[in-house]
Amino acid sequence: MQIEIVTIGNEVLSGRTLDTNFAFLARALEEVSVQVVWHTTVGDTAEAIAGALRQALGRADGVVVTGGLGPTPDDVTRKAVAGVLRRPLQLDEDVLARIRERARKSGRKLAASVESMALIPRGATVWQNPVGSAPGLLFTQGEEGKPIILLPGVPQEMEALAVEFAVPWLKSRTGRRVESFTLRTAGVFESMLQEHIGKLPAKWTGASLAYLPSYFGVDLRVTVAGPDHDQVGEVAGRAYAELKERVGPVVYAEGSQTIETVVGEELTRLGLRIATAESCTGGLLSKRLTDVPGSSRWFERGFVTYSNASKLELLGVSAADLEAHGAVSAPVAEQLARGACQRSGVEVGVGITGIAGPDGGTTEKPVGTVFIGVASPRGDAVRSFRFAGSRTTIRERSVQTALDLVRRQLQGLPLDPSLDG
Ligand code: ATP
Repeated sequence: MQIEIVTIGNEVLSGRTLDTNFAFLARALEEVSVQVVWHTTVGDTAEAIAGALRQALGRADGVVVTGGLGPTPDDVTRKAVAGVLRRPLQLDEDVLARIRERARKSGRKLAASVESMALIPRGATVWQNPVGSAPGLLFTQGEEGKPIILLPGVPQEMEALAVEFAVPWLKSRTGRRVESFTLRTAGVFESMLQEHIGKLPAKWTGASLAYLPSYFGVDLRVTVAGPDHDQVGEVAGRAYAELKERVGPVVYAEGSQTIETVVGEELTRLGLRIATAESCTGGLLSKRLTDVPGSSRWFERGFVTYSNASKLELLGVSAADLEAHGAVSAPVAEQLARGACQRSGVEVGVGITGIAGPDGGTTEKPVGTVFIGVASPRGDAVRSFRFAGSRTTIRERSVQTALDLVRRQLQGLPLDPSLDG
């Protein structure tokens, strides 16, 4: 089934609002193997919306429209759809009752215009909106029953209706089973992974493997789809086992789990606590760690020691080493990690020092040179890196690498990532 997504709104068309609705829908549909083949954005006029819908119905097997379902005069999607599908607007008593009930519960006086949201083109299947007033609407049109789905523009409402109704409905229409999984890797380049994985995916009937690189590493996402439900299950199981065997040593998590969550779980498992000492990352590492709900159980404190004086005063870094090797050096990274542990009375410490740029690099230590130290009951270690990219990229990569070093140290794995285990 080939789908067209139509997003509506002058603010989207002008570029002021990023079309995150499209991105969300396209990803969600891709995950269940529903193909999105066209994407159109139009402004808030009934003519433009009608034109886009006619065009989409002419070329796609189904259309998903977002935006313009609200009560304000610029919300004309229902009217435009009613015209194109030749289904007059009718008052839906259930929708009206729900709109009134929502207003009563929140103690708001209902503007008359809000009730206009209950005027719905005839013959719609109504999907109740769990987080707002405008419901999602489904029409099946013509002999082949081509689906047209209308969703509100407010992202939170659109997402709730898409997850609960629209995506499962479209998935069930395909009659195909879809299985997918993601292995998250850190510390190796995409090209190395590709070389190592080779032609393995060719053996998995109906499967595709996507390499998804980011600051955080490379995610490997496998999707298996097909009409034979047993075969899809068998191939997905085999693909998982074979891929895990190939790249297991660099996999830090599966699905959407983050590396900071994994670190938190390891610290909890071992009954340890962590403190950080950051120079070039300015607190980004402690931010990432404290993003994890419940991190107060294992995160003690973070030092942002940007100046040499603060490294000396707060963490006891040796003045002689600072003088001899410079602030961006292995001995200083190691002492930052150890100092963070000792000064805060915990078992695990991390130190990061580097040159995030764009200035400050030298021939010996160019921009992107970063040293990361880890101190733990399993011993102390330090590693040096040369990250490419902008200041932001270098800082993000430093933090992700530090988290992977801590994970490896806590899990008793070799500190240097290698596909050979
Ligand atoms: P409302 O009840 O608020 O009127 P609606 O269904 O009419 O909902 P719109 O008026 O089109 O939706 O958009 C509401 C808000 O949702 C917009 O101000 C915009 O911030 C956001 N929005 C709309 N479309 C998109 C989109 N494609 N991507 C991201 N955000 C969007």
